[in-house]
Amino acid sequence: MSRNFGYSNLYPTFNGKPKRMKKLVLSIILVVLGTTVMAQQNFDNVSIEAEKIDDSVYMLKGAGGNIGLLTGPDGIIMIDDQFAPLSEKIKDAIRKLDQGNVRFLINTHIHGDHSGGNENFKRDGVTIVAHDNVRVRMMVESVNEQTGQKGPARAPDAWPVITFTSDMKFHMNGQDVEVIHFPTGHTDGDVVIHFVQSNIYHAGDSFVRYGYPYIDLANGGSVRGFISNLERLASMLNDDSKVIPGHGELAKKEDVVLLYSQLKDIYDQVVAALKKGTKKEDIANLPIASKYDDILGAGFVKGKDFVLTVAESYLKESR
Ligand SMILES: [Zn+2]
Repeated sequence: MSRNFGYSNLYPTFNGKPKRMKKLVLSIILVVLGTTVMAQQNFDNVSIEAEKIDDSVYMLKGAGGNIGLLTGPDGIIMIDDQFAPLSEKIKDAIRKLDQGNVRFLINTHIHGDHSGGNENFKRDGVTIVAHDNVRVRMMVESVNEQTGQKGPARAPDAWPVITFTSDMKFHMNGQDVEVIHFPTGHTDGDVVIHFVQSNIYHAGDSFVRYGYPYIDLANGGSVRGFISNLERLASMLNDDSKVIPGHGELAKKEDVVLLYSQLKDIYDQVVAALKKGTKKEDIANLPIASKYDDILGAGFVKGKDFVLTVAESYLKESR
């Protein structure tokens, strides 16, 4: 996700401003995410908490996307790095778990809450690895399709130095680590990482636990793709598998299957309504997501937003 933080800090700033202005200001801030918002968020109070999943694999939580770690005598593989101001705290937290160096840092996708610390780790000699599209998109400014607002390119020190098209494998610490591209889902550069011997997966934002997922159409995402990626992830898991989600607590196969079925139901209803001739602007007023609002509506993406994203994504693909 790229918009999961700082909301409680942001909203008070807008009190008293006209609604349209609020929306515009919020859009601009979201576009330059990782810079403006980050500057407003106070990371001083964030602590990095480590959760041991097995003898060599850990999940680190702080602010932003969950970090995965494979530790051991061959050096450390790190997955995602949250925001730049947290890099030193993250390094301290890693050092408490393993004295070795981080050798490789894999970005699950482009968003700043997962790759914001890239520069700080690359300067330490860490090799950054990601899907081809992550590097390509980091090198140019981004444009928000809805608002037309532009976001700056990332600095060259943030760019991955090893990229791949479909998948790749690492073999370290007695573990085969598969890095698998999940195309056109949350973005177009998402990967899922599979620690084979441990039966542990890091799903990036292809699976999240904050409610309705944010799907970044401007960065090549697709709701249909997101849902089929969930189905694919579920098919790779068994009942003993553990899944580090992009955001939220450690999960199991049943959690992935449940989110898949909920989103599939919403998607099918939106597509049926569009096929019946319902206009996109009227879709959000239909009670399509309402039965899920109690379970999925607690995050920053509301049911109506999600339904609208489904419609936009579907219409874009049927053009
Ligand atoms: Zn994301």
